[in-house]
Amino acid sequence: MATRAALELADGVEEARASPTLDDPVQRLAGVTESFAAALGKGLGIFTTGDLLKHYPRRYEDRTHFKPICDIRHGESVTISGKVVSVENIPTRTRVTLTKVAIDDRSGIAFLVFFNQWYLKKQFEKLRGKMIVAYGKASRSGRGGLDMTDVEWEAPEDDADALSSGRIVPVYPLTEGALQARVRRAVWTVLQEYGDLPEETLPPELQARRTLVPLIEAFRNIHFPETEEARLAAQRRFVFDEFFGLQLLLAVRKRQADKIAGTVFAETAAPIAELTSALPYPLTGAQARVVTEVAADMASKKSMNRLVQGDVGAGKTVIAMAALLIAVRNGHQAALMAPTEILAEQHYLGIRRIMESMGVKVSLLSGSLPAKEKRAALASVASGETHIAVGTHALIQDDVVFHRLGLAVVDEQHRFGVMQRAALKQKGFSPDILVMTATPIPRTLTLTVYGDLDVSIIDQLPPGRKPIKTHWKRGHERQAVYETLRKLLQEGRQAYVICSLIEENEKLQARAATELASHLQIHVFPDYKIGLLHGQMKPSEKEGTMTSFRDKGLHLLVSTTVIEVGVDVPNASVIVIEDADRFGMAQLHQLRGRVGRGSTQSYCLLIGDPKTDDGASRLATMAQTTDGFLIAEEDLKLRGPGDFYGTRQSGLQPLPFIDVLRDVPVLKEAREEAFALLDDDPKLARPEHAALKAVVRSKYKNVLGVSAS
Ligand code: ADP
Ligand code: MG
Repeated sequence: MATRAALELADGVEEARASPTLDDPVQRLAGVTESFAAALGKGLGIFTTGDLLKHYPRRYEDRTHFKPICDIRHGESVTISGKVVSVENIPTRTRVTLTKVAIDDRSGIAFLVFFNQWYLKKQFEKLRGKMIVAYGKASRSGRGGLDMTDVEWEAPEDDADALSSGRIVPVYPLTEGALQARVRRAVWTVLQEYGDLPEETLPPELQARRTLVPLIEAFRNIHFPETEEARLAAQRRFVFDEFFGLQLLLAVRKRQADKIAGTVFAETAAPIAELTSALPYPLTGAQARVVTEVAADMASKKSMNRLVQGDVGAGKTVIAMAALLIAVRNGHQAALMAPTEILAEQHYLGIRRIMESMGVKVSLLSGSLPAKEKRAALASVASGETHIAVGTHALIQDDVVFHRLGLAVVDEQHRFGVMQRAALKQKGFSPDILVMTATPIPRTLTLTVYGDLDVSIIDQLPPGRKPIKTHWKRGHERQAVYETLRKLLQEGRQAYVICSLIEENEKLQARAATELASHLQIHVFPDYKIGLLHGQMKPSEKEGTMTSFRDKGLHLLVSTTVIEVGVDVPNASVIVIEDADRFGMAQLHQLRGRVGRGSTQSYCLLIGDPKTDDGASRLATMAQTTDGFLIAEEDLKLRGPGDFYGTRQSGLQPLPFIDVLRDVPVLKEAREEAFALLDDDPKLARPEHAALKAVVRSKYKNVLGVSAS
């Protein structure tokens, strides 16, 4: 009888508190106050229990072993355990209060040092004579004393779980109002109460085949691993999942693309010959090979989906031109999309220069055309009068209608999202697609990241190029850099001066560039003509500046990073980059690629005072090599995984622990499994794939446009 009543009571309780889900607000968790929840939401985008589960550690600290104080070396990060013997607040001349806590572990004494946390004294006084565990960075002062800074500590008796000591401890990304220990505690709590809820997404056979741990286990061990092996297994599972999702997406797209019959551009030899005879130089061997590959794709019934990869200055533009002309000569319109107005403009002028006399009508469509010109261009594109439309993302706006689009070329693909590529595709019934990128990534990665594309590589520079000489100078050597620059200008060269990168704020960048230009004009190079280029200028002004720089009306062009990609002025052979330490290596490589495009010796002068060892190492590498692949690999190593496998452009959140170079084998496995899975169950319709389908849908819907079904 009593049982029945108890059951009823339990039912009532159950109703009052709905069963937990991963959509519950984090406030549901014990210890998560409103203000803490607000901090998590605002600073880290964590609102639900599910978000918190996916708040992965940034790194880990192995605090499983206590080190005897007498054995600790200078500079080590260590965990110690000992008795609190004294506490002292010490004012300093710099107004910082030091709190020094002496810990005795019988092998020696160490001082925990805290800055401006005078209130800690009270807490430690209560602990006098008790054992505590502390983790920190050791430094041995000259007098033989041992100080520990960046301390995290815990009095184990206070805390049955001992989350922060005696184990491998997760270290989380933080934000204002969310301290490490508190975030750690919250994650621990969510794991206890919600850790069993994530639904398994991988079929058991697949898990077994690839030795992957179950998802729930992976969540536990990515946060609070008992051992290093457990942590690695969890990590492997998440890395696999991440790649697997991406590869499923690519597999879906490749299947869709392969199904579509493309346009057959039967005539390829004649247009290629027509173009090459109009060029002032013969194609390099690599260019000729790639043109042949492109032509074969275009002539075939399948629609082309090809990526052309070649380092800066390798000569990708002629490949685009060949493809464009093939399309036109087979009675189709073609489009060329570039990431910046300056580049679109340059392509427009360059293509017109070569093809206008062949009777090809080229139109420019950029976002900032005056309304009247824009209307005219749109009408010309819609009527089919325009053969080749060149433009920025303005090309994919709704008001652009093509008469007979047969080919879309995307230059500097890495600057565009996958979405944009898809949108351009929708402009034609099934235009062939050619994308070009200079971002050199290791080959294995190319094949998997751009897994839905065929790849051509231009691995040879045009003849007569001399490697750019790069020098790195400190800020205080700026005058010497300007002297060098003056000498080079006297030789009749043209130069870029790239202004430092101030956040992503275009207005501030524009102002900085303006100030630098007038400073150089008035105080440093009064006898030379200096031009200015930044993103806030009107298109016609930018055009004017670029034209006069190209026509040698300007000696020096002060610019923001608006010229970063694609700009081609072969006579410019010097580039000075201010505050070079603020740029990433890939970006420096792109910027440097603005010179070295002719046969004169080019120079790149980097000015920078890096604040970190990594920063210094970046600039030193730049000074040592011009090899784009090497730079990309170094960049990867220094910068970590970051965006390299293209997640930013695809709108996905990369996992903090993916290391693309290291994880290439997992990437391959994930690719094989994804393609096999879709062969087997193309619509992910089987019940055992339901959870996976849901994940793919929610995660990639903004990318796919169409879901996996
Ligand atoms: P990318 O887009 O690959 O950075 P571009 O297509 O802008 O390179 O070409 C860089 C420069 O090299 C341009 O000035 C171009 O005219 C020149 N160029 C391209 N191909 C050749 C070639 N086969 N021989 C000589 N110069 C070339
Ligand atoms: Mg280019």
